[in-house]
Amino acid sequence: MFSKLWMNGFIVWGTSFFFYFRRQRANADACTLISHSFFCDIGLPICSICYILNMEGSKAGTDCIPRLSGSGMRRGDELASWLSEGENTRKVRKNMKKIISGKVRDVYEVNDQQLAVVTTDRISAFDVILKSQVEGKGIALNLISNYWFDFTKDIIPNHIVSTDIKDMPEFFSQDAAAYDKRTVLVKKLKMLPYEFVVRGYIFGNMWKAYQNKTAFCGYEIQGDYQLAQKLETPILTPSSKNTEGHDEYIPMDQLYSEIGKEKADAIRDICLKLYQRCYEHAKERGILIADTKFELGYDEDGNLVLADEIFTPDSSRFWDASQYRVGESPKSYDKQFVRDWLIANHLDGVTPAPELPADVLEATSKTYKECYQKITGRDEY
Ligand code: ATP
Ligand code: MG
Repeated sequence: MFSKLWMNGFIVWGTSFFFYFRRQRANADACTLISHSFFCDIGLPICSICYILNMEGSKAGTDCIPRLSGSGMRRGDELASWLSEGENTRKVRKNMKKIISGKVRDVYEVNDQQLAVVTTDRISAFDVILKSQVEGKGIALNLISNYWFDFTKDIIPNHIVSTDIKDMPEFFSQDAAAYDKRTVLVKKLKMLPYEFVVRGYIFGNMWKAYQNKTAFCGYEIQGDYQLAQKLETPILTPSSKNTEGHDEYIPMDQLYSEIGKEKADAIRDICLKLYQRCYEHAKERGILIADTKFELGYDEDGNLVLADEIFTPDSSRFWDASQYRVGESPKSYDKQFVRDWLIANHLDGVTPAPELPADVLEATSKTYKECYQKITGRDEY
């Protein structure tokens, strides 16, 4: 409303000012003096106030028009639904500020102490966000993560404030179809700029380093290993979370010098404990967690808190225990159908991202649900 007001006001004010100057040259009459006085003394201040209010409104409501993460484009159907909303709903929406739109998750600032994290159905493969969405994927990921947070809360406190949409701002609670089961209210933390990766198996970059006989993240890998073999003991391989470019592996010694030995050792012990407990649990249920990453931060009282997501197929390598063979490259549990289809169609890593066929999406959706069922032992979302 303010935006229309100040723009219209400026147009009228500008036009009248133009006429006023023209008339003044040819002797101002009473009418032009009144219009000048109205538009300059009243119109201009009103326009200015509306302009300032409009600026404040946009700052608080950067997400009032839905945006599709990654492309920066507004989708036709999202825009249509936004336009068809009532003014009241839009006012509620305006109060929510989206601060991060990652590949899969959207993070909103609820207030100075809390964030709302929404796990969407977006899917990425080969580092490209695909055009299609996988129905229920966000719900599966969010519920898996919530399950583990509860399962490990005696090891370290976590950032969850509530998983119940009723405890969340109206923006979420009034639109349960869009946000229920995929949104968590969390403590806003001062995040440590690291990803704490725990590896239980030799794979990926660690396997490459082993083959090249180079140290990996400060570890000299001793012994005879085959691809995807279980390590003697799980290890922590931290990486720095860079704002630009790729994350970088850092040896423990570097972590010691950056945050202090005591803190770094305490974090390592917590991460290994988390991995050990959840690895055993998942294994009993048919999933091998080959590796995983954690993010941690500090709350207002200076307590170390587990944040982000934990032990989801997005933050970990999940292998199907029944298909696992030492020396063979295990299939990625969750995205295998998508990866296979992209490779077969020579579309891996290609932009703009392709649409995926319905059967691939359906199979992927089923796999995420199966993963949720296996881990949590529950049937339905
Ligand atoms: P990717 O899409 O590759 O996962 P990303 O990890 O940068 O990218 P998201 O996971 O979508 O992005 O966004 C989550 C962001 O929120 C991360 O930057 C994470 O560090 C941050 N985060 C998670 N939990 C909290 C928290 N409790 N307090 C503050 N920041 C948090
Ligand atoms: Mg992330």
